Amino acid sequence: MPHLTAKLQGFGTTIFAEMTALAQRHQAVNLGQGFPDFDGPDFLKRAAIASIELGRNQYARSHGMPVLNAAIAEHRQRFYGLSFDPETEITVMHGATECIAATMLALLDVGDEVVLFEPFYDSYPATIAMAGATARVVTLRAPDYAVDLAAVRAAIGPKTRAIIINTPHNPCGKVFTRAELEGIAALCVEHDILAITDEVYEHLVFEGVHVAMASLPGMRDRTVMISSTGKTFSFTGWKIGYICAAPALTRALRTSHQFLTFCNGTPFQFAMAEGLRAGDDYFEQFLREYRARRDRMCEGLASVGFEVLVPAGTYFICTDIRTLGFDDDMEMCRALPEAVGVAAIPNSAFYVNKHEGKHLVRWAFCKTDAVLEEGLARLRANIGRLRPGGKH
Ligand code: PMP
Ligand code: GLN
Repeated sequence: MPHLTAKLQGFGTTIFAEMTALAQRHQAVNLGQGFPDFDGPDFLKRAAIASIELGRNQYARSHGMPVLNAAIAEHRQRFYGLSFDPETEITVMHGATECIAATMLALLDVGDEVVLFEPFYDSYPATIAMAGATARVVTLRAPDYAVDLAAVRAAIGPKTRAIIINTPHNPCGKVFTRAELEGIAALCVEHDILAITDEVYEHLVFEGVHVAMASLPGMRDRTVMISSTGKTFSFTGWKIGYICAAPALTRALRTSHQFLTFCNGTPFQFAMAEGLRAGDDYFEQFLREYRARRDRMCEGLASVGFEVLVPAGTYFICTDIRTLGFDDDMEMCRALPEAVGVAAIPNSAFYVNKHEGKHLVRWAFCKTDAVLEEGLARLRANIGRLRPGGKH
């Protein structure tokens, strides 16, 4: 691509933007990009509106408005028994997306290596590349995506600075087990490397429990714990993300953050402080509703003929497309919106070793019941229009 730096060659338009554009062009039901098609709770909308009316409209403090940093600290204590100092260990950023970029840019030097599981969220390799570092990839394989600790160990070398763990995992819906995280933690301690954790789906766990890496022995001060309010409160456009990390790491992270965005939307920060302090009933109802969507959607996709890999967490379902005679996820997903009227995400976009994900397609179920039903109805009625291996 002309003009683009050598570092960023190959990181063209994100797969999410590409598939959403296709969905819009063909008026397809968008089960691709993971954003809810419904709003978050009214009490948060009212809090944001009140903040705007109260004149909280200028730049926020760079590391977050004090009320939000305090609410994040309370949330970490309440759900994980972790104690973080709101002033020296918590930084509010522009969504988890900025947290990821700020982390890579602050902590990685040119030539450093990072261990990365594939499939991966697409911004990890892009921001590792921006920092001039290199990803060493370890593959998680369907159907259980179990961690091969020997492979992780083999990927660690003298230049390894960090390992990235995304749990619950986008796209595969895996929730890392305590034993897996303990195994990774032991390697981090043994080799003196950092864990960068992306926990944005922490409140979407249907099977098992969410274990915070920072709560494991030896990990409190070597973990960069990233999360976001986007998924948990269904306001992905507010972009309130945050990082909890020991003071020395936090000082480094704030250095890159202040030159990336400096701060994010002030009124939304005040509102999200209330979100993080919501009662248990909010989090329970949130999970209950998503569990019902997951179950309905798993059943529906199975009835279309896909092999469904039931997710333990997140709001994504991956299906094996070979049961319907397809073998190329990219080709299928590029044809789906026009031919079938539904958009989805090809998993090979999340792999360096593309062949590992070529038979998998991801469906987002963070959508209203009517939209999910319409998507399934179109799939049942029209999937036959897609001719495997050829044009429709
Ligand atoms: N990490 C993962 C695994 C995600 O799925 C997403 C967004 N869907 C993000 C990070 C980015 O979060 P945010 O919208 O808060 O920037
Ligand atoms: N994280 C969302 C997904 O996985 C997409 C976010 C984006 O488009 N940047 O679908």
